[in-house]
Amino acid sequence: MGVPTLGCTCEVCTSADPHDRRLRPSVLLRWNEAVPAGVRERVVVIDTGPDFREQALRNGLSHIDAVFYTHSHADHIMGLDDLRPLSFLTFRENGLIPLYATSETRAALERIFDYTFSPDATYPNRAKVELKPLAERTSVHGVEFARVPIMHGRMKIAGFRFGRVAYLTDVSSIPEASFALLEGLDHLVISALRHKPHPTHATVEQAVAWAQRIGARNTWFTHIAHELGHEQTNRTLPPGIALAYDGLTLPVDLGPVNV
Ligand SMILES: [Zn+2]
Ligand SMILES: [Zn+2]
Repeated sequence: MGVPTLGCTCEVCTSADPHDRRLRPSVLLRWNEAVPAGVRERVVVIDTGPDFREQALRNGLSHIDAVFYTHSHADHIMGLDDLRPLSFLTFRENGLIPLYATSETRAALERIFDYTFSPDATYPNRAKVELKPLAERTSVHGVEFARVPIMHGRMKIAGFRFGRVAYLTDVSSIPEASFALLEGLDHLVISALRHKPHPTHATVEQAVAWAQRIGARNTWFTHIAHELGHEQTNRTLPPGIALAYDGLTLPVDLGPVNV
C-alpha cells in the first residue's frame, strides 16, 4: 500500500525518518556492456508499480532495455503506461522494449492495458513495448536472469536470480526445488510484510527463517507494511539481515548464474 498508508496516522505513517517513507517495491539494475563503439549502459527494471514514474525520476532513467514482471497485482504493474516516454525515446535505435512475463501475468497485462496490447487498439501513442514469454533463463545484453518459482498465496509467481543476487517479492512460500537456485548469494532481497500472519505474504519471522536457510551474505527485506518502523525493526533483526529502504543502492556481481 505504500507508507504512509492512506488514511493512517500510526507512528510509522507519521514518522519523521525518511526510511519510513516507502514507495511500492521495485528493482533497478544498471551495468555497462562493452560494445564495438565503446561502452553502453544497460538498464533493467523488475516491475513497474504505481510509483514507477517517481522512481524513474529519482534515479534519472533515460532508457530501459527490458522489464521483468513478478506477477500482475496492481502494486507491481500499474506504472506500465509510464514506459511510454522512455520507449518513444529509444524506439528508433533499440526497437520495442521487451517485457518478460509469465503467461498468467501476460494475460492480465493484455486485459488491463488492452489499449496498448490489443491488435484492435486504435490508441495512436501506445507504449513501444512487447510482451515476451518468461523462460527459465533469459539473457539481457549478457546478463542472465533465472526465474525462481515462488508462491504468493495460491498464485505461482516469479522471483529472479541474477549473478549473486536474488529478488523474491510477495512470497508466502518457497517451493523446495527453488532453494537450489538460491545458493551462493551475496544479496537476497525478500519480502517481509509485518509480524502478523497474512494469507499471501511472509511475516518477518518466516522471512528470517528462509534468510538463515539460504545463507546469503546480506539479506534485505522489502515490501514492508506500516506495522514495521525502520529503526525499531532493524534493532530486532539478526546480523546480516536488515530492512531495505527507498533508494538503497548496492554494488552487485552480475556474472553467470552457476546453479
Ligand atoms: Zn500506518
Ligand atoms: Zn505486492
